[in-house]
Amino acid sequence: MSDSISDSGTLRVLIVGGGPAGSACALSLVRQASRMGRRVKVTLFEHKSFGTHYNQCVGVLSPPIVQIMRDYLGLSLPGELIQRTIKGYWLHTDRRSIYLTDSSTADPELSLVTRRVFLDGYLLAKVEKEGVDIFPARVTDMEFNSDRVNLYAENGSFEGDILVGAFGLDRQMCEALERKTGYRPPDFLETVVTKMHPGQELVNSFGDQIHAFLPRRKDIEFAALVPKGDHITAIAAGRRVTSSTLREFLASPVCLRVLKFPFQVKDVFKGNFPICPAKHFYGDRYITIGDSAGLVRPFKGKGINTAIISGYFAAKNILERGISRKALSQIENDFAEQIGDLWYGRTARLMADYLSRFSAFDPVLEVAENDQDLRQALFDSVSAHDTYHNIFKRLISSPSRILKLARAFGYHFLLGGFLRDAGREGK
Ligand SMILES: Cc1cc2nc3c(=O)[nH]c(=O)nc-3n(C[C@H](O)[C@H](O)[C@H](O)COP(=O)(O)OP(=O)(O)OC[C@H]3O[C@@H](n4cnc5c(N)ncnc54)[C@H](O)[C@@H]3O)c2cc1C
Repeated sequence: MSDSISDSGTLRVLIVGGGPAGSACALSLVRQASRMGRRVKVTLFEHKSFGTHYNQCVGVLSPPIVQIMRDYLGLSLPGELIQRTIKGYWLHTDRRSIYLTDSSTADPELSLVTRRVFLDGYLLAKVEKEGVDIFPARVTDMEFNSDRVNLYAENGSFEGDILVGAFGLDRQMCEALERKTGYRPPDFLETVVTKMHPGQELVNSFGDQIHAFLPRRKDIEFAALVPKGDHITAIAAGRRVTSSTLREFLASPVCLRVLKFPFQVKDVFKGNFPICPAKHFYGDRYITIGDSAGLVRPFKGKGINTAIISGYFAAKNILERGISRKALSQIENDFAEQIGDLWYGRTARLMADYLSRFSAFDPVLEVAENDQDLRQALFDSVSAHDTYHNIFKRLISSPSRILKLARAFGYHFLLGGFLRDAGREGK
């Protein structure tokens, strides 16, 4: 395919979705084009009105979010967007718990808690200020031609040179792009989320800590309780989770040990997030970014970080290299570390699932009590502070730790834990 653009010489980019990925791409296109002396017309479609509608998220911003916003977008993270600073993480199995903090440096960068809808609104306002046309409409379909892309939206039809898919896992968009190109949406997990409002005093006494759970239930891969400004958010994720799954988890002994106050589950919100990269996530005249490309770390951490970075690199490649599949393939190099880590993350996910199902995480937590490096590795996994690749490398670098773990697993299995748990396996 040629890299032809409109006769006017202005590159016309159509972005579907104004979440972190779409906004980051729009901002980067306008700013980089201006630095390069290129003419670009960016049009962004976002059908949600942030404030009334929202994107499903717990709102934990993992380091180095401040640096990412600054380096990739030239933006600061306004203090008023931050509701809380997370000082540490509890990791719970059904029987054991361990408290994890970052001891890798004397002055660790902490995770921040935001109201996601404010972050999305903030980024989109910056996009608008840069002169991008934002249409508050849903895109319904698209067409690819040798010399242009056509988008059909609820407010009309639009022509451009390239489509940037930043629509998350929106089913209609995934199917439309799949029908027209080689794109295959990523596999995903379902999530159920609820908010508990036990009163400000109880929310504050909950502490600036996230509680992560690896329960021995087949249906839940992980769950978490996160303190926000005036409430606590609970999330459960798995292949198939429902509001009942969440209610049952919240009523379980391990959860009640943490939630020491009466609470009611009112509204439950459903969402999903990808667990592997999409196939053919770029091609002639299209590129997908963020969740649409499946560029999110398993256990959902750093989805926002990755979305912003992918938006930046998509813009860079479109401007510097062009809009053909070949030109856009550079994104695989720019994103090699993240893409490579998705497969390590997948392995970590499968291991965690298997270990928690047979209570075999208990020996890991037992060894971690007296092994600072293992505690750090668990912290890095739960908080998304380091790549899974680095975590695995560090873990296997110590033969004595492998021996300790093997011994602990041996005791666990010999003492019947494995068989007892396997017998009881299920809910
Ligand atoms: C329950 C849950 C909790 C999470 N918690 C965290 C967390 O704490 N921290 C974190 O970093 N990540 C978290 N994630 C992951 C994170 O939310 C995503 O990785 C991130 O939002 C991806 O950004 P995105 O811009 O690619 O997609 P999205 O944020 O999904 O944005 C896509 C946008 O496209 C718009 N759109 C879709 N279809 C159309 C259409 N046809 N026309 C017009 N607009 C359209 C949508 O309205 C939406 O605004 C969580 C995910 C889930 C499901």
